[in-house]
Amino acid sequence: MEDKKFVKEIQSKEEDYSRWYLDIVKKADLMDYGPVKGTMVIKPYGYAIWENMQKDLDRRIKETGHENAYFPLLIPESYLKKEMNHVEGFAPEVAWVTQGGNEPLEERLVVRPTSETIICSMMSQWIQSYRDLPMKLNQWANVMRWEKSTKPFLRTSEFLWQEGHTAHATYEEAEEEALQMLEVYRAFVEEVLAMPVIPGKKTENEKFAGAEHTYSIEALMSDGKALQAGTSHHLGQNFSKVFDIQFADQNNQMQYVYQTSWGSSTRMIGGLIMTHSDDRGLALPPKVAPIQVIIIPILRGDKETVRTKAHELATELKQAGVRVKVDDREEMTPGWKFNEYEMRGVPIRIELGPKDLEKEQFVLARRDTGNKEFLPLANFVETIKEKLDQIQKDMFDKAKAFMDSHTFEINSIEEMKEQLLKEKGFMKSWWCGDLKCLDEVKEETGATARNIPFKQREGNGKCVCCGKESTTTVYFARAY
Ligand code: AMP
Ligand code: ZN
Repeated sequence: MEDKKFVKEIQSKEEDYSRWYLDIVKKADLMDYGPVKGTMVIKPYGYAIWENMQKDLDRRIKETGHENAYFPLLIPESYLKKEMNHVEGFAPEVAWVTQGGNEPLEERLVVRPTSETIICSMMSQWIQSYRDLPMKLNQWANVMRWEKSTKPFLRTSEFLWQEGHTAHATYEEAEEEALQMLEVYRAFVEEVLAMPVIPGKKTENEKFAGAEHTYSIEALMSDGKALQAGTSHHLGQNFSKVFDIQFADQNNQMQYVYQTSWGSSTRMIGGLIMTHSDDRGLALPPKVAPIQVIIIPILRGDKETVRTKAHELATELKQAGVRVKVDDREEMTPGWKFNEYEMRGVPIRIELGPKDLEKEQFVLARRDTGNKEFLPLANFVETIKEKLDQIQKDMFDKAKAFMDSHTFEINSIEEMKEQLLKEKGFMKSWWCGDLKCLDEVKEETGATARNIPFKQREGNGKCVCCGKESTTTVYFARAY
């Protein structure tokens, strides 16, 4: 009974999804709450996941020609105010610094909610001629948005992210950049986080404050609610005109640059949890798991031989680049350990006892499927590497099958309401292009337009709201 302790403490997903999520982030030891409302501490195990994500995404950002830089945390109020839509969008959620030491400040400062303004002010000094373009920067940083309702990882008032900021000579080039970075996000999220997403364009009412248009990737969580997993904005000349970022072109004519910005945050960890985990706890795809393989020696009979073999196998895996740990503590039972590492989402568990050694075999248990099998110790490293690849692929396929089976063709608000009562998911609908129809859908059903997917349906149909003939397909969903 003792062995079941942890499992029992996780609220079942079916009964209370929100409670289940909070239980997982706490019990898997990913985070703790900070003293200021909406803030969180990312604990070592959670931070290790973030570091694995960061490493991979950072490589992709650099491979596409961007360089990392760092800009100040504090931004003068006057900067934020320059772009009208930007300030309107962000003013309600910025934190202010009004005093330095004992002195009130002459000009209030904002704690960055995003860094367009400060980066643009620098770019206006750094960019003079077409030779300085394109300028492709990225920053890894914390930002602060005074969010009203918060939830660990998904929406916190301070969060970690990367924000890319680029400047280009032409509209076309900036457009290409915005699309390219969305594709980088899509590939990263699908290949590394094993989360299938829908790439597309945001509708006008959902675009970033100050952007010409916004692209997003939208994922579907296991409760049927959508999560925006990354955004890429084409800023046009909106910022360059107010921050005066001009360059002399080949004919020595002064032109304003075209810009993009794109960001992805610690929210992705929340998405990872809600895509793959279950009532036994966290489930992590191998590519981001801090521990990919846990070896648990069954310490009976000739203990030391078993222990030594366990460490030998771990060394072999380490040399092959696998993140592995041996848990040979004797004060915990094997059963307790099984539960513990299951709850922490470790993709592969290896059990090794004296009998197994005699038979030159080991037990391999998969976190994702719960399958257990006996395998020969010959070709050990090869076997494990193949399994890790297989698990990564299977976790994506499973999530993709869930998304596909929870994408519903919906032709009216009534149908949408009925569907949402039955089962949530993506509502694939026709839309006439009128923003009022989106407002009405939201008011009536609580579902918002997630994006206009790049993959459009052929032909046409009736607008989900007003019934007018339409050629555009939109994905609606209740969203985080
Ligand atoms: P934005 O700058 O609003 O386009 O957001 C950039 C990225 O940060 C998107 O992937 C958002 O989903 C994510 N994000 C926005 N607000 C928060 C928040 N309060 N907590 C965590 N992530 C966020
Ligand atoms: Zn309509």
